[in-house]
Amino acid sequence: MKKIILLLLLPIFIFVGCSNSKQPTGNKENTTTASVPENPKTESTSEGNKDNEKPPIKKEDSNKKEASNKNEDLNNTEKEKIKEEKVKKQTIVIDPGHSNKSSNSKEPISPDSKEMKLKDTSGSVGVKTKTPEYETTVSVGLKLKDKLEALGYNVILTKDSVSDQMSNIERTDIGNNSNADLLIRLHCDAVDTPKAYGASMLVPEIRGYVNSDISKKSSKYGKKIIDTYTEKTGIYNRGLVTRSDLTGFNWSKVPVVLLELGFISNPKEDLFISDPKNHNEIAESIANGIDKCFN
Ligand SMILES: [Zn+2]
Repeated sequence: MKKIILLLLLPIFIFVGCSNSKQPTGNKENTTTASVPENPKTESTSEGNKDNEKPPIKKEDSNKKEASNKNEDLNNTEKEKIKEEKVKKQTIVIDPGHSNKSSNSKEPISPDSKEMKLKDTSGSVGVKTKTPEYETTVSVGLKLKDKLEALGYNVILTKDSVSDQMSNIERTDIGNNSNADLLIRLHCDAVDTPKAYGASMLVPEIRGYVNSDISKKSSKYGKKIIDTYTEKTGIYNRGLVTRSDLTGFNWSKVPVVLLELGFISNPKEDLFISDPKNHNEIAESIANGIDKCFN
């Protein structure tokens, strides 16, 4: 009986034994081969899930990046536009006259002449305030730069300090090299008598680099500027004066004007022009005059 039971159970042991021994290897080996058709599914799902997990973040990130890039692009376009508008505006070179260092060096008065003139002088001094001319011209020049920039002009100062010494040719070079639409020189008048008064606008005659076109434009601009300046400040308008003896004119290849703000040899005008409290008003009226030239 025991033999019969053992015989009956033997095939089961054999079967179980075989399946047990085969399963681990078979399964292990089949994982790679047999799972080939299945794995793509599972792998695709699992990786798909991974894809679904990671890419959304990536996509969000890239969307955000794209959006921010677009914003940046927009901002850049807007910035470019503003830049262009500013670039489109004219270039004005402001030249505050004189400096606190006098020099004995000389330079030719004109490209067509051997006559020599002093490169730079310290200018006049206010009869009443004792304020040197160079202090007023630099102070007004700096304010004029701000006013013009606020109006959108491209502005270059030949110098921004009273101690910067420059020759008149060097000053015109800045206007020439920047292809300025206008070079405006700022000065204060002075004579031996306290009686003279009023503002003058000096403009170039045809000489040296100044051709007919430059001369005409300079006169046209000069008139608008002095008319506005005197109207707004109440200073008497002495009008235009054409000159061919100024180095700072003859070497200019661009329209150039020289505004004499008034006579600092006149006590009343000295008190007004040399007072820094009035420089804002003075600069504003000149800026408005310049703006009329190009609008
Ligand atoms: Zn001067």
